[in-house]
Amino acid sequence: MVLPVVAIVGRPNVGKSTLFNRIINHRLAIVEDKPGVTRDRNYAQAEWLGHKFDLIDTGGITWQNGKLEDEIRAQAEIAIKEADVIVLLVSVVNHMTDLDERIAHLLYRTKKPVILAVNKADNPEQRTDIYDFYSLGLGEPIPVSSVHGTGIGDLLDKIVDAFPKDLDKKEEDEISFSIIGRPNVGKSSIVNKLVGEKRVIVNNEEGTTRDAVDTPFVGEDGSKFRIVDTAGIRRRGRVYEKTEKYSVMRAMAAIEHSDVVCLVLDASTGIREQDKHVAGYAHDAGRGIIIVVNKWDLPKKNSSSGKDFVQIIHQEFQYLNYAPIIFVSAKTGQRLDQIPKMVKKVYKNQNQRIKSSTLNDLLLDASKLVPTPLIKGKRLRVYYMTQVSTNPPTFVVFVNDPDLMHFSYQRFLVNQLRDNFDFRGTPIKIIPRKRK
Ligand code: GDP
Ligand code: GDP
Repeated sequence: MVLPVVAIVGRPNVGKSTLFNRIINHRLAIVEDKPGVTRDRNYAQAEWLGHKFDLIDTGGITWQNGKLEDEIRAQAEIAIKEADVIVLLVSVVNHMTDLDERIAHLLYRTKKPVILAVNKADNPEQRTDIYDFYSLGLGEPIPVSSVHGTGIGDLLDKIVDAFPKDLDKKEEDEISFSIIGRPNVGKSSIVNKLVGEKRVIVNNEEGTTRDAVDTPFVGEDGSKFRIVDTAGIRRRGRVYEKTEKYSVMRAMAAIEHSDVVCLVLDASTGIREQDKHVAGYAHDAGRGIIIVVNKWDLPKKNSSSGKDFVQIIHQEFQYLNYAPIIFVSAKTGQRLDQIPKMVKKVYKNQNQRIKSSTLNDLLLDASKLVPTPLIKGKRLRVYYMTQVSTNPPTFVVFVNDPDLMHFSYQRFLVNQLRDNFDFRGTPIKIIPRKRK
């Protein structure tokens, strides 16, 4: 499912991050349940009346010593390129400023819908004090108070109404995957080799639709693939594109739009901190993951080099121990054909369904293997397990008391599932429920 992207732009202090948090509040609470990975607060999924979308606070993507002028220009540029709907936020408190006007001018260039929201309209007088903003030429201003939460519903209605109708162009039997990783690990080289140099059409024009930057290709066996966000991989040069926040944001957008994520590492430099951030997002998003170690032509190798690198990967990305690892060279082309093959395999794994009867046989065997935990004199009883969804495979386990189902027992069940079925490359979710 391709989600529409909504970007908030505006000069500093109008309340962009407050509005952002207000809109995603609900979702963040769920996300933060997961241990281990820090969240980027400038990018999140949100939902309004059943419409899901990705929300970007472009103001969060700043760099040190940046001039304000450059910053707002970059914000507008990011919004024009990345978003399907743009929200220009201004503040009723300081009335209109030059900067508001300059941003509005930058946004005139886009064909995408721009919605004008006037923040800090905390009381009725302020809510009627917004008519100055008509002169920005962006239509009717919508008064909101991000602090109090008023007007947010009206704004969200407008946003949802403006979503493009033909976003999800993915064909039924097409597998979408993304190639992510920090700069210079060889992402563009891999994509070029995979699809053939000439077929990577990078479209840098403003206002082009998102699907124009995906690259479809057909594998050796006739399977259809779509590489998500190829343009994001290739595009380079602007100041903000070098900032880590921006590249993380891009990676997150690509991850959200993929079935399977290929995390590219560089064999010649080893694993860096930024690799771990990107990996964390992929894991959190519940997508299939393949670790691709590129530039395997570079290191001096002996008989254990591969094994040693695998061990380092397992140490550094403990939570990704389910991810297959492929060693490739985009330069020589070595084993690149394994990427689409493995993508297809992981896709199959993440979409497989296990019958409840089979699962309950597994539970029975598991209970013979390891007794259920006894916590403060109370023993966990596991009655029944059923798969409720795929991609990622998600299992509801009915128990006497969900509090007794500690992480270690959940992990044990996940390992049992992995031992008995091929779930390579996909995370598995376990949801304990009290049996009624
Ligand atoms: P940003 O720089 O555009 O991201 O702005 P922030 O979200 O950091 O907000 C700037 C300041 O405006 C903070 O002190 C907020 O508490 C305040 N603020 C944000 N939204 C509102 C609002 O709806 N009403 C009022 N009165 N203050 C707000
Ligand atoms: P990206 O920033 O991740 O898209 O990385 P690029 O594809 O632009 O590659 C960065 C640099 O690494 C370029 O100079 C490539 O020629 C080089 N490179 C990419 N893949 C390989 C590889 O497999 N082996 C070697 N030796 N160099 C590579």
